[in-house]
Amino acid sequence: MNGQLIPWDEARVHVLTHALHYGTGVFEGIRCYETENGPAIFRLKDHLRRLADSARIYLIKIPYSEQQLSDAVIQTIRANELKECYIRLIAYFGYGELGLNPLHNPVDVAIAAFPLVTYFGEEGLRQGVRCKVSSWCRLDPRVLPPLAKATANYLNSALAKVEALQAGCDEAIFLTTSGTVSEGSGENIFIVKNQELITPWVGAGPLQGITMASVKEIAKDLGMRVVEREILREELYLAEEAFLTGTAAEVTPICEIDGRIIGNVTRGPFTEKLQAAFFDMVHGKNAAYLKWLTYI
Ligand code: PMP
Repeated sequence: MNGQLIPWDEARVHVLTHALHYGTGVFEGIRCYETENGPAIFRLKDHLRRLADSARIYLIKIPYSEQQLSDAVIQTIRANELKECYIRLIAYFGYGELGLNPLHNPVDVAIAAFPLVTYFGEEGLRQGVRCKVSSWCRLDPRVLPPLAKATANYLNSALAKVEALQAGCDEAIFLTTSGTVSEGSGENIFIVKNQELITPWVGAGPLQGITMASVKEIAKDLGMRVVEREILREELYLAEEAFLTGTAAEVTPICEIDGRIIGNVTRGPFTEKLQAAFFDMVHGKNAAYLKWLTYI
């Protein structure tokens, strides 16, 4: 926390922390996986780049270099003696002035590492999850910049997630304010149709997911055609396969959307192939992707 390793229970903030009141923080969720050569962080550099991008959008001046942050992430994992973990890295406007202009406040930075197994459970990874198109829309860029991974964005995600859970589903799918598909509450979405892997284009405001980018690259390597474009809601219902990607969710099949069964109920062949390749990659079993691992 702010450059110091401190015990978990002492990692506290003041109640007048700016970000607590106004959502003025940016963050990353990163994973570290066990490999034959010890724990390795997946795409750390890319996460730090996205953090820097989010901070740039909100004029948050992070008082550490990318190298310092990278070293600090590694140090935090080592100190916790974790083999596999989830890492939360947050930069936020701290305690100072509570006015709406955050820029006079200190920028605090914290990194936490803790165990996290699967987001949707083993069952979710195998059988898929049930989704519901949300009544809440994905952030409109005229309201909040959707490409920044800002804490404030997750009020929108939490509304959608709770609505989906209360409806007996596992996850929400956001449409944009103009009605095309954007993403999940904390994941990107892909559909498979006519041998093509399709994911919403950047204009639909999905967070530019690092898992999404990785899956696109794996798919191309496997000879699949990858298309980024607008996706209509009903195309979800007509998809042969659909799945979600994210650091927490990894590659999770979707088995149902709004009561329509997708494909053959369980994960489809494309999803299964990509999922297997993804897990090989993060566990250091594919030499072509070792470039994305930071061994700790
Ligand atoms: N969309 C949203 C809204 C998210 O919170 C996340 C998780 N960071 C993703 C997509 C997936 O991004 P990544 O693969 O980089 O974790």
